[in-house]
Amino acid sequence: MQQRLGPEAPAFFACYAQPPRRGLRVNTLRMPVADFLAMSPVALRPGGLIPEGFEILEDKPLGNHPAHLGGAFYLQEPSAMAPLAALDIQPGMKVLDLCAAPGGKSGGIGAHLAGQGLLVANEVVPARAKTLRHTLERLGIANGVVTCARPDTLCGALAGYFDAVLVDAPCSGEGMFRKDPEAVAAWSPAHVLSCAGRQQAILESAAQAVAPGGRLVYSTCTFSWEENEAVVEGFLEKHQDFSLEYSRRLYPHTYRGEGHFTARLQRNGAGKGKRQGSLPLPACKKAAYLEFCKDALEAAPPGESIELEDGRVLILPGPLPKGLEKVRVLTAGIYAGDMLGSRFQPSHALAMAAGVDWRRKIRLAEEQQQAYLHGQVLAIEGGGKGWCRVEGAGYPLGLGKMVEGALKNHLPKGLRLL
Ligand code: SAM
Repeated sequence: MQQRLGPEAPAFFACYAQPPRRGLRVNTLRMPVADFLAMSPVALRPGGLIPEGFEILEDKPLGNHPAHLGGAFYLQEPSAMAPLAALDIQPGMKVLDLCAAPGGKSGGIGAHLAGQGLLVANEVVPARAKTLRHTLERLGIANGVVTCARPDTLCGALAGYFDAVLVDAPCSGEGMFRKDPEAVAAWSPAHVLSCAGRQQAILESAAQAVAPGGRLVYSTCTFSWEENEAVVEGFLEKHQDFSLEYSRRLYPHTYRGEGHFTARLQRNGAGKGKRQGSLPLPACKKAAYLEFCKDALEAAPPGESIELEDGRVLILPGPLPKGLEKVRVLTAGIYAGDMLGSRFQPSHALAMAAGVDWRRKIRLAEEQQQAYLHGQVLAIEGGGKGWCRVEGAGYPLGLGKMVEGALKNHLPKGLRLL
């Protein structure tokens, strides 16, 4: 870094004595930025990369705040928002996030898609893929597919399909040094080189998935040239059909964040990607599901409903590409609920999904929100009868059922606060 940064190096090294910067992204699927700012639990200032990205100015824990659990915001340090800015997502696009867990950038992509188009969020490590699924559920993303596949398998199966592909690559994590001592301990020159090899392989796979005319964004949270510019240069030498639009480094001493590298590449060619036929799936014909929709929702969520072998009912955002059957799909669209024999039981995910309008919405005061999040049953007057969505101030908290003046708590046990 001394060699690369020259006269800037002392400022770079000095910033490692400072605490890490924190940030959050307002989830615009839940509410407009102005509404969030009016109720924000912490002082914020704009991060400058995306309109809904902010730096947090107070040292206050936020993970268990109801607005966080309700998906009104996502905690993300400000410079990690650079890839989302580079992707320039427009509603209706088909987007692949190839290394997606825990889901920070996928969440942003989903928000920018605004319910239109398709997000395929992939994570190769199974336990992390589960976390990814829960993040997207919490953020209310209804047009996502979560997969757990190797990049070469997934990108081979969906070659030429995506308008935009993000590779937020596993890296040596120098941008994590201020907040994660393990990243410091794991660092070595050999680790940097092994990361670079893996990054080249992932990017090579990713290239296949990009439609002609589509874009590929490569990012890391590290500063070594081997893992950043060198990976991009090596890629461009092999792929004459791609060109570099720009690359950008954010450093902790030049920007109010932990640092990020982003490169935006464009695949030559005009027009949209190969439109592959729809994945054939069995339609859900269960009258019980439709009966539930009639009773509890203003309208059944648009999209085809399918029933999986395990009884889960999913509402698909639109036709899914052929090829997905070759990879492990954890969930797709909205996980509406389960068929238990001939009975339909709605899921927590349905209560969290953005764009689903419930007939019964039980809005809780702050103290009641805490009680609900701790798994308690609440006495509610005039709440009606039947399944309902439990809400905080403009964001959902989960599922409930009104029975004789009591709000039965259907928040999954694993999500309850201890
Ligand atoms: N984009 C994520 C976000 O914003 O929350 C962070 C992604 S993290 C930097 C990189 C991810 O790549 C990790 O979840 C890691 O498990 C995954 N990964 C590790 N090895 C991989 C490989 N060989 N191919 C694809 N992904 C890999």
